[in-house]
Amino acid sequence: MHANMSKHLVLLLITVCFTFALISTSAKETPIPIAPDGIEQNVQALDPAAATQAWLATVPKAQREKSDAYFEGGYWLILWNFLLTAVISIFLLASRISTRLRDFAERVCRGSRWLPQGSWQLPLQVILYAIAYFLIVAALSFPLNLYENFFREHQYGFATQSFLPWFREQLIGLGIAIVAGTILLIVLYGVFRRAPRTWWIWGTVVAVVFMFVTAFIAPVFIEPLFNTYKPLTKPEIRDPILAMARANQIPVKQVFEVDASRQTTRVSANVAGVLGTTRIALNDNLLKQCTLPEIREVMAHEMGHYVLNHGAKLLTYFGIFVLIGFALTRALFDAAVRRWGGRWGVCGIADPAGLPLLVLILSAMVFVATPVLNTVVRVTEREADAFGINTSREPDGMAKVALKLGAYRKLDPTPLEEFIFFDHPSGRSRIRMAMDWKAAHLPAGESPVADGASSIR
Ligand SMILES: [Zn+2]
Repeated sequence: MHANMSKHLVLLLITVCFTFALISTSAKETPIPIAPDGIEQNVQALDPAAATQAWLATVPKAQREKSDAYFEGGYWLILWNFLLTAVISIFLLASRISTRLRDFAERVCRGSRWLPQGSWQLPLQVILYAIAYFLIVAALSFPLNLYENFFREHQYGFATQSFLPWFREQLIGLGIAIVAGTILLIVLYGVFRRAPRTWWIWGTVVAVVFMFVTAFIAPVFIEPLFNTYKPLTKPEIRDPILAMARANQIPVKQVFEVDASRQTTRVSANVAGVLGTTRIALNDNLLKQCTLPEIREVMAHEMGHYVLNHGAKLLTYFGIFVLIGFALTRALFDAAVRRWGGRWGVCGIADPAGLPLLVLILSAMVFVATPVLNTVVRVTEREADAFGINTSREPDGMAKVALKLGAYRKLDPTPLEEFIFFDHPSGRSRIRMAMDWKAAHLPAGESPVADGASSIR
């Protein structure tokens, strides 16, 4: 999904974030350094380690330094985004802006002749509070958002949008965040009120359902707001892709092309949706910049996500994370309210004025859990890579794609760096997997039927 939505809104909507990042996990690439002839030949005597180094050595030094700088800058942005969320949350609490917002929402709802009274009072208060909260947070975090997603993307040559179209998409993203976030908060605060001690269990159920619904509707209702998806019509590209899909029991009749070049020069493809909304899409940058072997490799990777049921697996993993996170949150929230509740004017979990505290605790946990969350995603990406190489049988295509991805993902990190910061395997890891596969030199499958006599192989 897009980096459009402000990080902080997404942090609150941790679940939305997970869904977009995970269920539409994407394989991405960029420009093509051509490998020297020697690398692709000589399969018999292939030394995977040396071959991996040879591929990496094809990237010019300046290009490597640029992509390292871009990716390492992202490490700091994780910290800045967390600190900004923390500062905004503490500011809203300590200044009692949060309390005043809640009181304002209460007064409006109680005093209104037009708004329904009775059991509708509390959800209406949550709606008023939530809309104001999202707008304030979006405004306060706009400078960092502007730097990270506009200026920095232009500085590194990835962005293709001028300011106004970019800003328009930010507003659309904010609108989606407000609608989705408010719905989530109405349900969550209903749970908080009815089950102040066991909300963390029921809240997890709410979060998982929310993730599922978001994943289900994203390809149909959200993604078309930013990009146009149309069926891929070129038979020379479409047919080999559909052949791989048929060979793996993937019930797709068409593959989609998305006009990602509207926003970025990055190459990518993704699987999105669940159940009936599942679709595989590759972007126009990929079609322009990659050869058919590379495209087949990328699409086989995306099919791996589908065949290996990664949507359901990630939903399960993140459900477990949310459960643990909510259990810890319950303890931390209550402790914070005992200590500072009087000063901030926050009475308890069911009090909307405590939303910034909830966001502060959850974002701190997501920040601390960054290596774990990245590793969970990276492991599923590695599974999709293994599926991709076995299905496409394109080790050199896989290596070339990995180098293109290296335009914006550090190619050769230390193992610790990869563990902490990488949500996809690094270029080095991917090329090594491809070269290990190539060195093992699996023979193409032989058909026992065509071959007649011999029975067991
Ligand atoms: Zn992937």
